[in-house]
Amino acid sequence: MNPQSIVYSDDTIIALATPPGVGAISVVRLSGKYSISVVNKVFQGKNLEAEKSHTIHLGQIKDEDKIIDEVLVSIFREPNSYTKENVVEISCHGSNYIIKEIISLFIRLGIRFARPGEFTQRAFINGRFDLVQAEAVADLIASDSDTSHEMAMKQMRGGFSKEINTLRESLIHFASLIELELDFGEEDVQFASRKELKETVLTLKSEIEKLISSFRLGNAIKNGVPTVIVGKPNVGKSTLLNALLKEDRAIVSEIPGTTRDFIEDEIFIEGIRFRFIDTAGLRDTEDAVEAMGVARTREKMQKASLILYLFDLSKEKLVEIEKVVAELESQKIPFLKIGNKKDIAAPALLKEFGNDEEMILISAATEENLEELKTKILHKVHLDNINTGESIVTNVRHLEALRKTSSDLDEVLTGLEKNITHDLLAQDIRHALFHLGEITGEITTEDLLGNIFSKFCIGK
Ligand code: GDP
Repeated sequence: MNPQSIVYSDDTIIALATPPGVGAISVVRLSGKYSISVVNKVFQGKNLEAEKSHTIHLGQIKDEDKIIDEVLVSIFREPNSYTKENVVEISCHGSNYIIKEIISLFIRLGIRFARPGEFTQRAFINGRFDLVQAEAVADLIASDSDTSHEMAMKQMRGGFSKEINTLRESLIHFASLIELELDFGEEDVQFASRKELKETVLTLKSEIEKLISSFRLGNAIKNGVPTVIVGKPNVGKSTLLNALLKEDRAIVSEIPGTTRDFIEDEIFIEGIRFRFIDTAGLRDTEDAVEAMGVARTREKMQKASLILYLFDLSKEKLVEIEKVVAELESQKIPFLKIGNKKDIAAPALLKEFGNDEEMILISAATEENLEELKTKILHKVHLDNINTGESIVTNVRHLEALRKTSSDLDEVLTGLEKNITHDLLAQDIRHALFHLGEITGEITTEDLLGNIFSKFCIGK
């Protein structure tokens, strides 16, 4: 029979799982009831339908008589696959033409193109993991440092979900007792001790507040710390930036074929990424714009979470430095005072600043004290001594849900103070449970799922 004449259910999906572009190999993935049978229709080499799960087979993908490619086909039978459905991965040669031909062949056979994140969405719906873990897959794929990798790995393995579930369970306990009181209607019975409930809510609230405040760290780990270098022209800003970037560059350029030219200027200190904002102009030594008090510099500083203020120890006047420091203090963004050109420093300034704990004296040109500077940078933004053993919130959606839970818990506490009726109390507790449940996906809505998975790439 002509394979093109059979139309398979559109419940089976297909997408390229590897990045588009030319590579040695590419992987096209199918998931759904018919994935094995539809691939079998166009595969020459073996009868895939008779093969066991988790096996790989060499053969050809043919569009009628035309061989599209020689491929390796991996079979995963439900429920032992990523999506818990039948999954086939076709490893073909990494040519855009071949990929296009293979995918369009299956589309003609009635297979549907996957929506963004649909593989992971199916894995979630089929109970392979919860929402936090599904989101961690995206984080893992995007992780680019030791710490962001560790965070994502931990969430994917369920560490964070477990903590949220424990918090939820303690509240469910009370909710069910209060619901029981409701069953007794008008009768004035209390199964749930209000004193104990208050204690539980207070404990929960403090745990949740801890998680909320961990987001600052989580966000820094995930997205890096936006940093600016400010200072007068010729104080050595670009020399410092180059010195800081040098080590990273060297490592990256050792990998053949890579270049950092397109990457934003960034450095890693102890696994934390510091992204230098708008440094293009720094290399332009002709840029004679006064560094401080200029609108552009102010604007740049507003985008930063850390400011490195650089001044020249060989010629700047103390009064000038103090003026800038006063201005920086009014900005409320953490900043480091860095005296540069220590090697040719004016002795008076050196003496003045030598014992200032808040200041670091370096020489960007000779690279003196750069390691100390890095330590100070980490310390300034409180990213030293990170305890990755504790749960850290890295996801804005989780943060929002935690904030809502926290204010729901406030309502519960106020209700307890005011001695409100059990039906109103039950309602407040349900709100808190709802928002807490949204994090792991115990509670889901179409909108919520759509929002999460549409941010994934196609093929994930
Ligand atoms: P920017 O305008 O702030 O980016 O300053 P540059 O990085 O272009 O540096 C201005 C000049 O100061 C250059 O000639 C650098 O070689 C020099 N310079 C930078 N850092 C040092 C240092 O630590 N010691 C000395 N002696 N010269 C430095």
